[in-house]
Amino acid sequence: MDFTRRSLLAGVALLAAPPLRAAQRDGPVIVVGAGAAGLAAAEVLRRAGHAFTLVEARGRIGGRAFTDASLGPDAAFDAGAQYIHWADRNPWRGIAEREKARIGADSGWARTLLIDGRPATEAERDARRAGFGTLTALLVPSGDDRSIRAAAQVGGAGAAQAAANLTRLSLGEEPERVSLADYDRLWSGEDLWVDGYGALVARHHADLPVRRETIVTGIDWSGAGVTVATSRGTLAGAAVIVTVPVGVLASGAIRFAPGLPPGTEAALAGLGMGAYTKIALRLDPARLDLKAVGDAVSVARRGERDLTLYFEMAPFGRPLAIANLGGDGARALCEAGEAAAIAEATDRLVQILGTEARGAVTGGRLAGWWTDPFARGGYSIARPGCAEARLGLRRPIADRVFLAGEALADGGAMTVGGATLDGARAAAAVLRVLAS
Ligand SMILES: Cc1cc2nc3c(=O)[nH]c(=O)nc-3n(C[C@H](O)[C@H](O)[C@H](O)COP(=O)(O)OP(=O)(O)OC[C@H]3O[C@@H](n4cnc5c(N)ncnc54)[C@H](O)[C@@H]3O)c2cc1C
Repeated sequence: MDFTRRSLLAGVALLAAPPLRAAQRDGPVIVVGAGAAGLAAAEVLRRAGHAFTLVEARGRIGGRAFTDASLGPDAAFDAGAQYIHWADRNPWRGIAEREKARIGADSGWARTLLIDGRPATEAERDARRAGFGTLTALLVPSGDDRSIRAAAQVGGAGAAQAAANLTRLSLGEEPERVSLADYDRLWSGEDLWVDGYGALVARHHADLPVRRETIVTGIDWSGAGVTVATSRGTLAGAAVIVTVPVGVLASGAIRFAPGLPPGTEAALAGLGMGAYTKIALRLDPARLDLKAVGDAVSVARRGERDLTLYFEMAPFGRPLAIANLGGDGARALCEAGEAAAIAEATDRLVQILGTEARGAVTGGRLAGWWTDPFARGGYSIARPGCAEARLGLRRPIADRVFLAGEALADGGAMTVGGATLDGARAAAAVLRVLAS
């Protein structure tokens, strides 16, 4: 673990360091994906003076860090990342400060709890608090790498319920599919709430050359270098850094020739993608007193499971209610499509705020990462028994194919900061190999 920490720190140092000597093997490094990891990798290569080609499937950069302004400039919201987690060691804290990003105070507590459309009773609230208390005591790693659900079950129904709420709303996944050992390894610390994290990422890297709307479909590493097939032609390079989400890798959307080595395939099989999802509702402030509404949680049965929506009300004073949800219920809503998701969120909002809220909803957006072909989920989840999968994916393939991204970021997994550190790590590894 010590080695891991040191290599991460080396990555950060490279981001800030003066240019390195140019690497010696010929050919550009091809970087696939212009999310936080790919952008950081390209930045390290640029500082090192090594040629690179950064390709991105979408028409924009930032990947899962994306500030969506399609409901109007006054109603922009982060469809993906919005918190700078573990801020004490996250490179984005310094960047946010230098670029004078607006940081908000987040109470982190909902004022209202609705169960099946009616306010929760005091007894129900007490039971939920007790369930969380029991769960907290149970979430300690044991020798075996079991699921969060297995760990919670011994605490009874209240703890099991708390585990489901915790993993759905913080990881986007059901508790039986989450490795407790991996969860326990995640870094924690101060969380900063950024007004426009996605916009900050895009702004910070705005001057990097990127080939947008270029979808990578194949990577041939059978020769001395690599050949990368894209929707806009073929690229040849000395090496490739692949930063697409593990859900995209696992889908087979990129064909590797030869196929990925068994060790890489095994590590990949140990990681899934959660379905953390947001539904943004635009509200008309003339019809609803936004200052009077506080965050709220709405729990209701949907099919075989509860579907819990956490509503952030009027974030940064904007005319919005943003429902956060995860797990299989979120998957089903993403698959049902934007109109169904907006209707569900609106119905829940009406239950919380009253019938006048219905007329106050003037538009909506589904940030449906689960059905997004270039994300295939919210962020990576290590399956029970697979806590070592993240570091397993870091092993370079024949010294010319390097994987990177949030899924490989060890304790920084699932975050923008982790993706940035891991992209820098991969680029440093490529430079070392090419210079040798
Ligand atoms: C709803 C939600 C909330 C989140 N909240 C937070 C938070 O508060 N704080 C936090 O730190 N993190 C949060 N995250 C996680 C964070 O957004 C990610 O961990 C991080 O942005 C991942 O960066 P990445 O570079 O590894 O991957 P990505 O950002 O996914 O970048 C990969 C890039 O590859 C591109 N790509 C995919 N397929 C292809 C292809 N075939 N060819 C070419 N390009 C391709 C994609 O378009 C994308 O731009 C959240 C994520 C979601 C979805």
